[in-house]
Amino acid sequence: MPEHSIADVAIVGAGPAGLCLAVDLAALGLSVSVVDRAPYNALAAPGDDGREIALTHTSRRQLAWAGIWQRIDTQSVAPIREARLYNGEAPQGMTLAGSERSASQTIGQLVPNRVIRRAAFEAALADSRITLITGKGVSALETTSGSRTLRLDDGSRLSARLVVAADGRLSATRRMAGLPAHLEDTGRKVLVCRMAHERPHGEMTWSWFGYERALALLPLNDQSSSVVMTLTPAEAERLEVLDDDAFSAAVSGFYRHCLGDMQRVGDLHGYPLWVGYAQRLAAERLALIGDAAIGLHPATAHGFNVGLASVHRLVREISLAHRQGQDIGSSTLLSAYERTHLRATRPLWLASQAVVSLYGDQRPPARFVRQAALGLARQVGPLRWGLEHYLLRDAR
Ligand SMILES: Cc1cc2nc3c(=O)[nH]c(=O)nc-3n(C[C@H](O)[C@H](O)[C@H](O)COP(=O)(O)OP(=O)(O)OC[C@H]3O[C@@H](n4cnc5c(N)ncnc54)[C@H](O)[C@@H]3O)c2cc1C
Repeated sequence: MPEHSIADVAIVGAGPAGLCLAVDLAALGLSVSVVDRAPYNALAAPGDDGREIALTHTSRRQLAWAGIWQRIDTQSVAPIREARLYNGEAPQGMTLAGSERSASQTIGQLVPNRVIRRAAFEAALADSRITLITGKGVSALETTSGSRTLRLDDGSRLSARLVVAADGRLSATRRMAGLPAHLEDTGRKVLVCRMAHERPHGEMTWSWFGYERALALLPLNDQSSSVVMTLTPAEAERLEVLDDDAFSAAVSGFYRHCLGDMQRVGDLHGYPLWVGYAQRLAAERLALIGDAAIGLHPATAHGFNVGLASVHRLVREISLAHRQGQDIGSSTLLSAYERTHLRATRPLWLASQAVVSLYGDQRPPARFVRQAALGLARQVGPLRWGLEHYLLRDAR
């Protein structure tokens, strides 16, 4: 007989969002099973994926509350003091955050994605109320009386009062639940790599929205930065085949030698760029969180912050119901979660899509609007506040 296990909550996806949710729910006294198709070792000791996650202070506090931040080595944390936005060839940029703060204040921090993933995995492993099921994907989703049942690849089943899909922006669980999402293959590729450079970065993040490519520079420790380049596939391919010196010279040129010559010091990682926004976040005894709910463009540097906000909102609703002895998978609870998370994130999604499509458009009218928008944003308080609020502040 294939195995049939039961938990209060079943989470599909042991990525950072799924694991953070598991730890928070276990702290409420609930039993949680987390299923991931990746093998155990890949989750316990994730390799470098080149992603540096910009965490807001609210996200850091949330990770600390869950006991995850304490597992992160401070050596791998790099402070951010200022964030600047540039429009392609225009020499003057716009400070989105940081300029009014004192020199000792930071606006956030950068932490490698693999470090966050490992810390979250360790925290989940240390909690006896959490069961980790690795190396198995979900092949079917069934509705049973008072619960939902996941059928796994090996024929085993897992039933829970609530199923949470945290299986990333191309979520198969979302599709199985019949929840519609606006998914877009941008046709671009994101290349990320760590580069050393001659001049100090001043702990500042830079984003350039150019006519053919969007570039970001994220300040790391040891006078190095992470370069995040959103490129056409042809340009990405051209860079990917260069040797170290030619690659470093090309990237230094892309960044106009703003930090002097750059030298590659890390592996190059490439990601096809999909973005997505689920129109509904809840179905019968099922909720979407993390990138399965909203997968933002990496240029916003906000994806995981929004993912953590989804965890926070869902835990708040579940905690309330659990304390009052109510059903933790009720449609009332899930509707409240859906409403609050969609309401809080829709402006950010729309703003990021508008900015990205405007900057991705090389036609002259778009160039004009773009330049005007940046000029305006420098002068008009509310617009600047809007950009700052949507792109850099906590999305909650
Ligand atoms: C280049 C790049 C740079 C980024 N930079 C930033 C940044 O600076 N700041 C920021 O906040 N965000 C950033 N992001 C976004 C951030 O990485 C994501 O928001 C975050 O990883 C999403 O976490 P998640 O847990 O929702 O999903 P994921 O990390 O995608 O995890 C999903 C998990 O589900 C598992 N899974 C998938 N399908 C199945 C299945 N069928 N069955 C079982 N398991 C399954 C996968 O194995 C995986 O472990 C960046 C993204 C990219 C691509």
